[in-house]
Amino acid sequence: MAYIEPAPIKDKENPLESMMERFNIAAEKLGLSDEVYNVLKNPAKQVIVSLPITMDNGKIQVFEGIRVIHSNILGPAKGGIRFAPDVHIDEVRALAAWMTWKCAVVDIPYGGGKGGVRCNPREMSKGEIERLMRAYTMAMIDVFGPDKDIPAPDMGTGPREMAWLMDEYSRARGMTVNSVVTGKPLVLGGSLGRTEATGRGVMVSALAAMQKLKINPFQATCAVQGFGNVGSWAARLLEERGLKIVAISDHTGAFYNENGINILEAIEYRDANNGTLDGFKGADRLDDPGELLELDVDVLVPAAVEDVITVRNVDKIKAKLIVEGANGPTSAKADAIINEKGIMAVPDILANAGGVTVSYFEWVQNRLGYKWTADRVNRRSDRIMKDAFEHVYEASKKYDVPMRIAAYIVAIDKVAKTYTFRGGF
Ligand code: NAD
Repeated sequence: MAYIEPAPIKDKENPLESMMERFNIAAEKLGLSDEVYNVLKNPAKQVIVSLPITMDNGKIQVFEGIRVIHSNILGPAKGGIRFAPDVHIDEVRALAAWMTWKCAVVDIPYGGGKGGVRCNPREMSKGEIERLMRAYTMAMIDVFGPDKDIPAPDMGTGPREMAWLMDEYSRARGMTVNSVVTGKPLVLGGSLGRTEATGRGVMVSALAAMQKLKINPFQATCAVQGFGNVGSWAARLLEERGLKIVAISDHTGAFYNENGINILEAIEYRDANNGTLDGFKGADRLDDPGELLELDVDVLVPAAVEDVITVRNVDKIKAKLIVEGANGPTSAKADAIINEKGIMAVPDILANAGGVTVSYFEWVQNRLGYKWTADRVNRRSDRIMKDAFEHVYEASKKYDVPMRIAAYIVAIDKVAKTYTFRGGF
């Protein structure tokens, strides 16, 4: 079947432009020189490969594979690999740069990268996906490396694909190299605490922000969009810390209960129901799932997909605090209105950085040949997230800017200073 380029979705912003808009504001506030601006604006390396794969029907199909290293100034590049039908170089470039800023915000010694293969894994057999992953790894054999570029899972890939990547890379090197990739199954050197790490970081960021806003968690209400890995863990951990989670949602619908939803029950329901909340009885179904974002709650956690808070609905948002679990849930054009309304938005590059932080711990443990306990992983990642929040908060006061721009300022400043010390040609 021929691949059909998806039509642009109306009202959606180009992720690269969205990112650049914020980058430009932060660069100006920082007084970044034109020279350094140009270094940080352009990806360090972009590789596009063709991957001929023998499909189960015996025919050869060619797939496009991309890897972009935005920056390796702070250290080896770090970033996921997505398998999706609409993977595009622009998107991969934006996501690679996002990773540079995310790693810099939480102060871990990584640059940013991202990869993608244009395919539809839902229409492929396990064997076809495995051959594609191994072919992609071989094509990137000189790009990847524990000290060069360390991939991880992203949309459409998971621990299974990372295991194949590690195996293929290790075969080519003639030894086991588990530190070349993170997000591996536990038995292959994955880290305890990785599964819940992103949701946990969202919880830590939310509590830190609530402290600044003087919102008592035991009297606070919260709505969470998305009930996958990030959303369900964030909801569960926030509920444990006293918040009343009044609304949750997934792609099948949104559910509201003003008395609070029992999150463990909702997770149990989802796990027994093909991974969805469809038919969940612990709350009422909202007629329009978009209403979840407009509820009168203290805390709103978008943890599903990008571009859900846009100029179309931002006027109706009533939350005092937005904590972005998803990547890019707020369009750049909506930023100004959020700020005007006095809502604090903890941006994605800070709020969801708990995942990459524990990926970093996975790499550290692999290199040490040692395994940390879950407790050690959680304590260390909580500390990193809390410190990062404080740095960004201080920058927001110092430069008199919203948290999003402050996060970019902290990140760009760190990468720019490091670049200045390292120097160019
Ligand atoms: P996931 O696939 O586990 O879950 C996604 C959830 O969103 C599912 O419950 C799905 O039903 C729901 N969803 C999809 N479309 C929706 C819609 N229109 N309205 C409401 N819900 C919808 O994915 P995840 O790992 O939880 O990732 C969620 C977001 O967080 C993504 O933006 C991802 O890039 C970002 N993120 C994830 C991690 C991580 O460690 N998993 C780290 C950083 C950022």
